[in-house]
Amino acid sequence: MTIPVPDRPEPKRALIVGGGPAGLMAAQSLANAGLGVVVADAMPTVGRKFLMAGRSGLNLTKDEDFDLFMSRFDEQAPWLLPMIRAFDAVAVQNWARDLGQEVFTGSSGRVFPKAMKASPLLRSWLRRLGDAGVQFQTGWKWLGWQGDAFVFDTPEGQQQIAADVTVLALGGASWSRLGSDGSWAELLKTRGVAVQDFAPANAGLDVDWSPHMHRHFASPVKGTALLAGNDRSRGEFVVSKRGLEGGGIYSLSKAVRDGAAVTLDLMPDWPSDRVAQALSKPRGKLTWPNYLRRALRLNPVKIALLMEFGGPLSGNENLPATIKNLPIRHSGLRPIDEAISVAGGVAKTAVTDGLMLKDIPGVFVAGEMLDWEAPTGGYLISASLATGRWAGESAADWIKNSNA
Ligand SMILES: Cc1cc2nc3c(=O)[nH]c(=O)nc-3n(C[C@H](O)[C@H](O)[C@H](O)COP(=O)(O)OP(=O)(O)OC[C@H]3O[C@@H](n4cnc5c(N)ncnc54)[C@H](O)[C@@H]3O)c2cc1C
Repeated sequence: MTIPVPDRPEPKRALIVGGGPAGLMAAQSLANAGLGVVVADAMPTVGRKFLMAGRSGLNLTKDEDFDLFMSRFDEQAPWLLPMIRAFDAVAVQNWARDLGQEVFTGSSGRVFPKAMKASPLLRSWLRRLGDAGVQFQTGWKWLGWQGDAFVFDTPEGQQQIAADVTVLALGGASWSRLGSDGSWAELLKTRGVAVQDFAPANAGLDVDWSPHMHRHFASPVKGTALLAGNDRSRGEFVVSKRGLEGGGIYSLSKAVRDGAAVTLDLMPDWPSDRVAQALSKPRGKLTWPNYLRRALRLNPVKIALLMEFGGPLSGNENLPATIKNLPIRHSGLRPIDEAISVAGGVAKTAVTDGLMLKDIPGVFVAGEMLDWEAPTGGYLISASLATGRWAGESAADWIKNSNA
């Protein structure tokens, strides 16, 4: 008697659209679950924003108390909490080490790979995914659907992929030259998915400088405190041709969007009366810059900011108050395409707890395309990895259960 050998079932196919940190993490989870995985990306290579993030030191995560870490996500923290708890800052570091990249923690708790850049990590990650059978289709831009199939514009003309399960990880809507142009928002809206409008997060301030400021372009400003609404930032920033940029300014983006005025404390470690005491000596024949340098040890860029935003200093009856509370005149945030990240995206109400689109069963979403925001400091990559993993694992569970 011969026992019939059952045909081995074809593995289920998973499609990931978007090969940034979120999409690659989802690909890893689905490949680990035994699915055949294809990652399609509009750009000629994947992970371009990840590589760009590594240009100035790839800040992977933040080594800090979990509750503090979660508080950076503000009102979206409860939504992201189970996902980040399942892949927290410690897990991010272990993941990087497992890919052969030792990490270190800087003085502020920011965690970087020792190599600082993203390329060795990405190379090792792509090798791992390749070994797991993940296939890549690059230069494939997702255009929408034809029935249930995903339609792509590709170098070989239009192509379609019909998969058993899909994860969209299409990023936000900034630095569009790196691939995330936000064009997916309209595609999802036509299918009834609630997508919050994009807005710049972690963006610079637009300032129309007087010519006096030109020689200070590219000067870093350290040891100050910025205030906007309830947000206070001791981070550094830079005077640039276009305005003010850098981590210290970026963290105020949300308050600025909400209409809060921005003020700068040039002497945050000195109480007002100490500033007043130091300025009680008459200026005599000293120029204002020399007087301020001697009395307060203000450096040239801080003096220039004071003169730019503080109006004429002669005749100012309350100079100490101006120094402690200098109003920053600006014309809003820099355009969204320049922002490090965006607010807005697929609304929490549009997805299940497993990040599946309620209106499109079998399609999951992850990464910056979800409607959360966080300051710089490694939170963006951490949450992209955590939501990518969560969506990938949920998608694997969903396909398993829909087979049963
Ligand atoms: C200059 C800069 C520095 C940064 N530094 C840091 C940092 O140090 N630490 C940190 O935590 N965060 C940093 N970030 C933010 C971080 O890089 C992003 O938040 C993160 O990459 C988001 O991951 P994602 O996978 O969701 O999206 P993305 O990385 O944007 O990936 C989305 C992918 O989807 C593809 N795609 C988009 N639309 C389509 C389409 N229609 N069809 C096919 N493919 C499509 C894109 O080509 C892209 O590859 C930085 C960002 C910038 C711009």
